[in-house]
Amino acid sequence: MAEAEIVRLLDDFPEIRRGRLTTVQANLGYVCNQTCFHCHVNAGPNRKEVMQRETIEDILAFLRGAGIETLDLTGGAPELNPHFRHLVASARALGVNVLDRCNLTVLSQPGQEDLAEFLAQHRVTVIASLPCYLEENVDAQRGDGVFEGSLTGLRQLNALGYGQPGSGLELNLVYNPQGPQLPPPQDSLEVAYQEHLQKHYGIVFTRLFTIANMPINRFAKTLARKGEYNSYMQTLRLAHQAANLEQVMCRSLVSVDWQGFLYDCDFNQMLHIPLGAAGRPRRHIRDLDPLTLPDTPIAVADHCFGCTAGQGSSCGGALA
Ligand code: SF4
Ligand code: SF4
Repeated sequence: MAEAEIVRLLDDFPEIRRGRLTTVQANLGYVCNQTCFHCHVNAGPNRKEVMQRETIEDILAFLRGAGIETLDLTGGAPELNPHFRHLVASARALGVNVLDRCNLTVLSQPGQEDLAEFLAQHRVTVIASLPCYLEENVDAQRGDGVFEGSLTGLRQLNALGYGQPGSGLELNLVYNPQGPQLPPPQDSLEVAYQEHLQKHYGIVFTRLFTIANMPINRFAKTLARKGEYNSYMQTLRLAHQAANLEQVMCRSLVSVDWQGFLYDCDFNQMLHIPLGAAGRPRRHIRDLDPLTLPDTPIAVADHCFGCTAGQGSSCGGALA
């Protein structure tokens, strides 16, 4: 089936507007040590897009002036950006909570052997992809050997206190479905993960976040090749829950790309839909006044049904 199946016909997602800005989500570049088939970033080892030091300083300047509570770091593998540790240490010194969206295998990449200690020392919250607790499913989605590498990373983090009750070091795992289905209920899946990982591997974690696969980029192309794109979009549309509109993450965050330009979320960033509306000129974080954001419109399109279907989906898991 051709990629031409990916046609956005309806764009009838309800209008939503911004609330108070609490979170900056920064994409530090598209370089990754993995090439997962569901990746909405099309990240991989050969990507060249990397946030430069000047843009890192622009983000820090914004954090200083805007009263931001949380800096959410993503990529690619954000830790592979050469300025990652400077950004984390500087943001923590400002009292900002830092989230690291970690693929776990990066913790054992050459040159990253002390990364887990660095994260613990700066009390960074780790949000780690583990789309199943079964080896064959993880390797099918993320590549051969990724499950074993992920366990190694989780053991490293547990040994430093991550996920251990009372440590204050949060280790949250992220589940996403293998294919074009909605995630199962988050709470019951969390219990299944806890039981299986504890019993078979002695691994503990804080919370499980279930997220829906977004019908964009590599995942959308995979669906189109299989002739499943339109049926997946229909699944998302039919499961739309208006109550989730109140809590979608774009109400309270801005997404910054590797060059410092702004979007309503990481998904819109990947679709090149600028902050506020498609077709608008791009705005840069160094020009953003956060006080002008509340009650401004968010750029929505078909893919937004991925955030509001069923129990809802965000970078922090289910919304319901
Ligand atoms: S999903 Fe995450 S770990 Fe996988 S290729 Fe994309 S950025 Fe890398
Ligand atoms: S895809 Fe982005 S803009 Fe659309 S609802 Fe989700 S977070 Fe908001």
